Formats: sequence, C-alpha cells, structure tokens
Amino acid sequence: MQQVFTLQELWQALAALPAPLGLVPTMGYLHLGHLSLVQRARQECASVAVSIFVNPTQFGANEDLSKYPRNLQRDLQMLKETGAHLVWTPSPEELYPAGYQTWVTVEEISRPLEGAMRPGHFRGVATVVAKLFNATRPARAYFGQKDAQQVAVLRQMTRDLSYPTEIIICPTLREADGLAMSSRNVYLTPAQRAAAPVLYRALQAAALAHQNGERRAEALREQVRAALRAEPQVRLQYVSCADYDTLQELETVQGKALLSLAAYAGETRLIDNFVLGD
Ligand code: AMP
Repeated sequence: MQQVFTLQELWQALAALPAPLGLVPTMGYLHLGHLSLVQRARQECASVAVSIFVNPTQFGANEDLSKYPRNLQRDLQMLKETGAHLVWTPSPEELYPAGYQTWVTVEEISRPLEGAMRPGHFRGVATVVAKLFNATRPARAYFGQKDAQQVAVLRQMTRDLSYPTEIIICPTLREADGLAMSSRNVYLTPAQRAAAPVLYRALQAAALAHQNGERRAEALREQVRAALRAEPQVRLQYVSCADYDTLQELETVQGKALLSLAAYAGETRLIDNFVLGD
C-alpha cells in the first residue's frame, strides 16, 4: 500500500494502478463502517484508493473541525490490513490553495434536512468530492447510506456534471446495540453512549409500524419522537419522513421513503436513517 500527499504524487501512483479504480473518500479516524466500503471496493475494482481528508469547507463556524478526531497511523494500518492499494492524504493547502474561489452547489436536494441545519455543508461536500473525482477519475466511488442526503446530493452532482463514475451506496454498519458507527461516537461520555442506541430503536419502532401498514408519514415521525422522549440524555433536532428521491416531506408513504433524524447527546450531534419500502 502506497501513501501519497501531493496531486503530482497521486497522479504518478494512479498511472501505475490497473483499472478499474474504486475510490473511498473519508475524513479518517476509521472504523468498520469505512472498512466495509473498502472491502466492497476491493471486490468490485482492480485497484482501491482511499482519501483521508478532514474537509474544512464542509464544517460550519460552530462545528467540530478543530477537534475532529484523527489517528493517521492507526488508519494506515487498518487500510493496509483491508487491502487498499493507495492512500491519499492531501493537505488543506493542496486542495484549497490561497485565493481559492470555485464551488460546486447542488441546489434543491441540498436544501432540506441536513442542508437546513448545516448551511453550506453540502457545498463543501460537493466541492471536495468533485475535486477528489477530478484528481482520481474513479470508475466507482463508495459511500455509506448512513449519510443518506450526502449520497443523494452526490448522485445528483455526478449526473449533472457528467462524471463517468458510478456511485455505490453501502449499508450502514452498526454496533451490537444498534448505534450507527461514526467517528464522532468517540465524543460520547459513557452515559451518552449508553443512551445513544435510542436513535436506532426509534427508527426500528417506526419501521415496524410501516411494516404493519402505517402509511401516514406524520404517524411514523411521531413514533420516532415518542421513542426519543423516553430518553432524557438525547435531544431530537429533527425527524423526517421524506420521498427517497426528492427528499421532500411526505403526507403518505407510497413506495420508497427515507426516515431520518438528527439528535444531540450533550454537544455531540448524531444522525441516522432507515429506508422504508426498499
Ligand atoms: P466520513 O469519514 O464520516 O466522512 O465517512 C466516510 C464514508 O464512510 C462516507 O461515505 C460515510 O457515509 C461512510 N460511513 C460512515 N459511517 C458509516 C457506517 N456506520 N456504515 C457505513 N458507512 C459509513
């Protein structure tokens, strides 16, 4: 496994790798969820490149950029063991040189949900992923369903900008108690960590109601709210039951829907989602 830093080094290394290339973009502090994307890429691609970059432009002014967890040596060891061929760890200056002023804005689909709570977030995500795609020209790129709106935004961007890259969505990996794996889980105190699986239980309760025939979106949202009310350590920020493709809120669930939520455990913001009617 080779590690490269600059664009020049990246291009040189890529030239020596057999096609097709699979790209797994990450912000590091890797866990089994990230590694499941690398494993899937290994199965489907001759070469696998992983980027590790804590992208400053997707963090809001009051968010956790400066304290985002990092452990590059451990990440490199995990990627080596999982069989990645190339790891790219660019510096912020490499991707955003002084005077940087070009942005990718995906409009409608970036607006609701996470986009409403985190203004500018998806502009940062779309811009950096466009730059990663331009730099690596992957045949396939792997993303987690955990970040459901991110996937929707990036699919839209890939179509709209005619990237020859296939977006592959991988299932959310969870801890044994249902908590979605996330680099940010490390922020949780033991009491918050014990309370956090309530997100999963809330989604499960609503999914069960859907399975039993409940089609009123508001009743499904209420199931989630009720489950979260029972856990004082966790404060719901929003719950959404939206059309899977447009992310517009639904009155009635017909076909595929995205049930998603964001909640705070102390200062730590957690998100999770289930796809209904899959
Ligand atoms: P991040 O480092 O948080 O930007 O995540 C990098 C990629 O890993 C994104 O495509 C995430 O959606 C994906 N990912 C994060 N957590 C999980 C998880 N628990 N299961 C599957 N994929 C995940």
